[in-house]
Amino acid sequence: MDKGIARIVYKALDGGEITAAEIKKLLGVAWLSEEGFLLQYASRKMSEATARGKAEVHGQVGIDIGPCPKNCEYCSFAAKHSVFPAAKVHPLAEIIETCQGLEAAGANAVYLMATAAVALPEYIRYAREVRAALKPETPLVANIDDFDEEGAKALRKAGIAGIYHCVRIGEGKVTAIDPQVRVRTIKAAKKAGLLLGTSVGPVGPEHSVEEVAATTVLTRELKPVNNAACRRINIPGLPLSAHGSVSYARMAHILAVVRLANGYDIIGFGTHEPNGMGAMAGANLFWAERGANPRDTSEATVRGWTVEQARALLEEAGWEALTGPSVMFGGR
Ligand code: SF4
Repeated sequence: MDKGIARIVYKALDGGEITAAEIKKLLGVAWLSEEGFLLQYASRKMSEATARGKAEVHGQVGIDIGPCPKNCEYCSFAAKHSVFPAAKVHPLAEIIETCQGLEAAGANAVYLMATAAVALPEYIRYAREVRAALKPETPLVANIDDFDEEGAKALRKAGIAGIYHCVRIGEGKVTAIDPQVRVRTIKAAKKAGLLLGTSVGPVGPEHSVEEVAATTVLTRELKPVNNAACRRINIPGLPLSAHGSVSYARMAHILAVVRLANGYDIIGFGTHEPNGMGAMAGANLFWAERGANPRDTSEATVRGWTVEQARALLEEAGWEALTGPSVMFGGR
């Protein structure tokens, strides 16, 4: 056992904040080594403690499909990829039915996702209707384009509990969004009382330890209620797909490092997409997704499995699936 690595791991487990240099060291550990498994053990132990052994499944519904002007290289909605050349917004009744279905299946929170092609007022119209159709205690979370302080207040007024918003690895280089705009949105949301869920990703094999560490530190500074580590899902034919993808086993290692770096301040830690290796290594949040999403080329996908399948996988990994509203998003 490398005593230097063990010292960093136990510093985190003992409640200390690990530095950027220490995060890089942990990311550089061979993932099938004794130290690699110590990391995963420690991450799991930390999540067990913060979540009291409970795991959550959040449902997500995409309300629209079509070309998005933000042109993220890895996304099937990017206008330049022409995967979905025509814009289409799903009928409200269908969206409500899907959201209610996720809630009835046991989703602890429901996310309403829209591409940047949907203007905030239109999104809020949908959000209000969905909010009214869900149980009052089920948190509704927005996964949408950037917005300002007024937008954040309007979302809060519409009954949104929180946002899922990320500064993606390579933001501004592989996307058409200035990373500072993403940070400003998150700050505006928090100022309005919206809770933040975020993630470190989408990770590809081409990313350096420095890039993953820098995003890890940034997400920690943003003080989310849950963080995550997610690999890039390659869309066939998109340029980044040439790099290949990171295995779930390697992601379990990255996930463990990001989780340890976040410390005891966050309750939940997630991974796209549900996988047993991530759950064993400390992920206690999975997503079940409906409608199109940026990692798929189908309009009506079932990405991340169903709520029931995600819950079953978490239980297989030794978690107790939470019933009722999300603790992470302030449900109780
Ligand atoms: S990831 Fe989001 S912002 Fe980027 S192109 Fe896709 S839908 Fe648009």
